[in-house]
Amino acid sequence: MIDIDNVAVIGGDKRQIAMAESILSDGYNVYTSGFETIELKKGIIKTTTSEAISKCKYVILPLPVLGKDLCLNAPYADEKVKIDDNFARYMYGKKVFCGMSGKLMSTSNIWNDINLYDYSKREEFAINNAVPTAEGAIEIAMHEYSGTINGSRCLVAGFGRIGKVLCRMLEGMGAKVTVSARKTKDLAWINVLGYNSILTSKIGCKNRYDIIFNTIPSMIFDSHTLAKSAGDAIVIDLASSPGGVDFKAAKRLKIKAISALSLPGKVAPKAAGEIIKNTVYNMIEEGQL
Ligand code: NAP
Repeated sequence: MIDIDNVAVIGGDKRQIAMAESILSDGYNVYTSGFETIELKKGIIKTTTSEAISKCKYVILPLPVLGKDLCLNAPYADEKVKIDDNFARYMYGKKVFCGMSGKLMSTSNIWNDINLYDYSKREEFAINNAVPTAEGAIEIAMHEYSGTINGSRCLVAGFGRIGKVLCRMLEGMGAKVTVSARKTKDLAWINVLGYNSILTSKIGCKNRYDIIFNTIPSMIFDSHTLAKSAGDAIVIDLASSPGGVDFKAAKRLKIKAISALSLPGKVAPKAAGEIIKNTVYNMIEEGQL
């Protein structure tokens, strides 16, 4: 029997475990599979994928839903879970939530008939995720930079969600923050908020920095721009693959460049799990389902 008080959490990493614990503490029954090799909080029910799904109207799949091997992203499962027609069939009649649904859709035509909702496409998800991402970026900077953040010359390339959060945190730590944007409106906001502003296209024209954070998902730090702007700086690329930094050129120029991806799950799984949970709750409450 389907009971709307039951939620199935199928696979995932520490974020999904934190989310399952949080859903349990909200008073729902949580059925899980894909966590056979790790101990879960008392009260979370470990079972098979088919039973977990059969008990629940709401099914939450991980972010990303697929691992590199095109199986379910389930690092704590005791065996690989193939994502195929059989897996998709379990989901008939369910409300299924997942992150980065694109690849999942290509695994079976059955997904076209499933109520599938992608929490990673929601704006509040991206905004809230900017916080652990920015904290993770600063953690890397503190580890890699031999000076203090306080007093350091930081460039934040891009004034989107992560850029906005990151420059505020850096300023709070006493850094001298320059922020780049391509829109005059954003440059005006950057100035009004008290940061130094620079057009993204002019990053390579002037200034040297101690730490450069790239949030722009486009090749901004090519060899020319790196040579002009980076010098002795550490470059931390936060933008999703293929990123915004020419790492080969950085190596040639002897510039330390770090690709820092998936930070929320790595640095703050509890917060990242809460963000997924709250986004799913929002989607349910908005009655989209
Ligand atoms: P966002 O809000 O869309 O911000 C992106 C920024 O880049 C905006 O300022 C945008 O300017 C600028 N931009 C985009 N394309 C540009 C181009 N061709 N030239 C110049 N500027 C350009 O994105 P976000 O949420 O901050 O995320 C930034 C990146 O980080 C994305 O790739 C995202 O997937 C990734 N991400 C990484 C992590 C991690 O752990 N490392 C976590 C979450 C997200 P306009 O506003 O003018 O378009």
